[in-house]
Amino acid sequence: MSKVALVTGAGQGIGASIAMRLANDGFAVALVGRTLSKVQDVADKITSNGQKAVAIAADVQNRDDMFRAVNEATEQLGDFNVIVNNAGVAPTTPIMEVNQDTLDSTWKINVGGTIWGTQAAVEKMRALGHGGKIINATSQAGVLGNPNLTVYGSTKFAIRGITQTTARELAADNITVNAFAPGIVKTPMMNDIAQKVADNAGKDFDWGMQQFAQDISLKRLAEPEDIANAVAFLASKDSDYVTGQTLIVDGGMVFQ
Ligand code: NAD
Repeated sequence: MSKVALVTGAGQGIGASIAMRLANDGFAVALVGRTLSKVQDVADKITSNGQKAVAIAADVQNRDDMFRAVNEATEQLGDFNVIVNNAGVAPTTPIMEVNQDTLDSTWKINVGGTIWGTQAAVEKMRALGHGGKIINATSQAGVLGNPNLTVYGSTKFAIRGITQTTARELAADNITVNAFAPGIVKTPMMNDIAQKVADNAGKDFDWGMQQFAQDISLKRLAEPEDIANAVAFLASKDSDYVTGQTLIVDGGMVFQ
């Protein structure tokens, strides 16, 4: 029987690419997102290739939603082995513009979603009597401070902390916990950030994107597939002896 992986925020961008890659690698995949039609579209693409996928509507900041999503994935696909806590939001927040709503909502989605996804996955893996893999989305902005991203960066630093803490806590269950840290990836999220950076400077979108590309050693922005390749390793047996780590996938921006 296929191993089962659940990916949050799988309706577009990096999450959609991860779901498609894991299906290619032989996983049955559960695609989770707030809007059912978006995750259903990606799931339909996967099933039309003869691979196994289901779409589930859930809001990652809602703990009950995440437990229900993991239960549904297990019932429909027959096991539960990997969760990719990928969903996230990235508001642009110059320090003096941070307000209570942005702070609360970003932490609830990025950090809350990671914690609830982890809890739901661990409860299920324990009930099934086997270990598994938890994979969290952080960012190069969670390794090095990025101007104008105080709130987002703070959540992504926190996710590396959660990754290290839970790796230690869950090792006895044979559950590994790792994170991936993308650099600048061509997704709707990055387009929004580049547009805002450009607007703030009174420049156009291409200028905004260029600001990011010039810091990349390999001199190109990432495709979502570049990130999915790294997540495929973290989801595979090949990473069985790796836990608590953050794999930076940024074309050479941040060196650690
Ligand atoms: P994206 O905005 O294109 O896609 C994110 C997906 O998450 C969307 O489908 C969105 O609807 C979903 N989502 C948001 N809030 C949700 C919620 N509460 N419940 C369920 N789903 C929700 O973003 P992306 O660029 O694909 O980013 C994916 C992950 O990678 C994020 O965690 C992001 O912080 C991280 N990341 C992205 C980049 C980049 O350059 N694009 C860089 C570093 C890290």
